[in-house]
Amino acid sequence: MKHIENPDIILIGSGIMSSNLGTLLKRLDPTLTIQLYEVTDGLAQESSDGWNNAGTGHAGICELSYTPKREADGSVNVSKVIEIFEQFEHSKQFWSYAVGSGMVERPSEFINPLQHISFVHGQEQVDFLKARYEGMVAHPFFSSMEYTTDRDKIATWAPLLLEGRGDVPIAATKMDAGTDVNFGAISRKLLQWLGQQDGCGIASAHKVVGLKKKNGRWEVEARDLKTNEVCTNHAKFVFVGAGGGSLGLLQKSGIPEAKGLGGFPIGGQWLICDSPEIVAKHEAKVYGQALDAAPTMAVPHLDTRMLDGKKTLLFGPFAAWTTKFLHKKGSITDLPFSIRPDNLTTLINIGISNLELVRYLIQQGLQSMADRMKVLHVFYPAAQAKDWRLIDAGIRVQAIKKTDGLAGIVHYGTEVITDADHSISALLGASPGASVSVNIILEVIKKCFPHLLATQEGHARMKEMIPTYDEDIKLLANARRFQEVNQRAEELLGLRRA
Ligand SMILES: Cc1cc2nc3c(=O)[nH]c(=O)nc-3n(C[C@H](O)[C@H](O)[C@H](O)COP(=O)(O)OP(=O)(O)OC[C@H]3O[C@@H](n4cnc5c(N)ncnc54)[C@H](O)[C@@H]3O)c2cc1C
Repeated sequence: MKHIENPDIILIGSGIMSSNLGTLLKRLDPTLTIQLYEVTDGLAQESSDGWNNAGTGHAGICELSYTPKREADGSVNVSKVIEIFEQFEHSKQFWSYAVGSGMVERPSEFINPLQHISFVHGQEQVDFLKARYEGMVAHPFFSSMEYTTDRDKIATWAPLLLEGRGDVPIAATKMDAGTDVNFGAISRKLLQWLGQQDGCGIASAHKVVGLKKKNGRWEVEARDLKTNEVCTNHAKFVFVGAGGGSLGLLQKSGIPEAKGLGGFPIGGQWLICDSPEIVAKHEAKVYGQALDAAPTMAVPHLDTRMLDGKKTLLFGPFAAWTTKFLHKKGSITDLPFSIRPDNLTTLINIGISNLELVRYLIQQGLQSMADRMKVLHVFYPAAQAKDWRLIDAGIRVQAIKKTDGLAGIVHYGTEVITDADHSISALLGASPGASVSVNIILEVIKKCFPHLLATQEGHARMKEMIPTYDEDIKLLANARRFQEVNQRAEELLGLRRA
């Protein structure tokens, strides 16, 4: 194991966020020195691991939660899905550059084409989906989207949706340009490349236990879990990409920007299908409507996944009670120990003002297999309990923030916290998470490393990696540019034939 003393940058955590940031920075400036610490033995074993998330390349195609309601004139505002699509394009561009430049090989081990379907039932929802489709198909990003109420056609797209279904009106939209992504696999591939570069070191089984600023540099203490020894290292810049571990580390850093922040963990669970015949019949990600007070990230979906080289069928996620902030290396004391005088009132107020969410989580925690099957029947009416079993997914720590004059909010999006002198950035929150990780990392680079983009050389390097990083491909006038860049990225990633 290579260990870099006094590097320019220390990365904490080996998930999709740190792996994108480390590799992008090293490509931008090959002279940078970088040390990464990861608490688990392997890399990217927490939220980014393929089994711990839904692997949806969130591009706004099928997730109805990004377009929750109709406007007064009956239309659906689709600006959010256009934005998410564009952000996912940045990820596709960077990962395709990584393939094209030989940094990573065999893209089918981390990304595969998969049709994304939205499926609804009941006349009101059928009308809603039609209005959503009309808003989306008019934009070049979604021009290949199809809409139908024809049961036979839906049965050709996803036969399980029709098996045993009664006579209610149904509708679906489909786009073949969706993806299934193994975010853990791409993280590990990128980090394998990073670890081989001069001046870069990756230390797994190293838990960061101390983080403070001293004489203008960050002092990071990491415990080697094999020897129990603590090593001290210093860097100009620290990135806290520790997922559920980020809040505690931010609190240790003592930066004023961390004051008042809290975290609230929500565990995830999947139903996994054990019948090869059923798995073989389904080839899609199917998202539906939000059920009850489900937070957006807990809206269940029926997903084909490619995991460990095998096709799998998962349904979920279901929410589960937990006080742990990390799935693998978390402790039941994580939540109580995160409570500080500066976030206690916000946490209590959040509980009081989000009773519906609290009720939802209690109900989810008390669910039986029969209750979970009832939810699955909304998608696949003929499903039988004998073909499914429950497994654990990852944990999302929702960021909790004070808001002026209000009780505080549970923040379902991703929150980047950066200090005033731009020497530390941390990532809190979850959704849409891994899919838009490259876009999030771009923001970190723009804020904390603007000098790397200011030179002609730096700008050209970034354009090579993310051709549209400084362009607005949402504009209808840029449709041709979008198509050209999208085609190149998809060919390199094996998502379409050259
Ligand atoms: C149920 C579920 C479904 C999801 N579905 C999707 C989806 O379909 N699409 C999508 O885009 N996103 C999805 N997400 C979100 C996505 O998984 C996350 O946004 C993303 O993986 C976060 O990456 P990360 O690098 O920030 O964190 P992680 O992958 O969790 O990495 C953080 C790393 O830091 C390490 N660490 C923590 N503390 C320390 C410490 N003190 N010292 C050293 N190392 C430490 C951890 O061990 C871990 O390896 C889902 C999440 C969940 C929970």
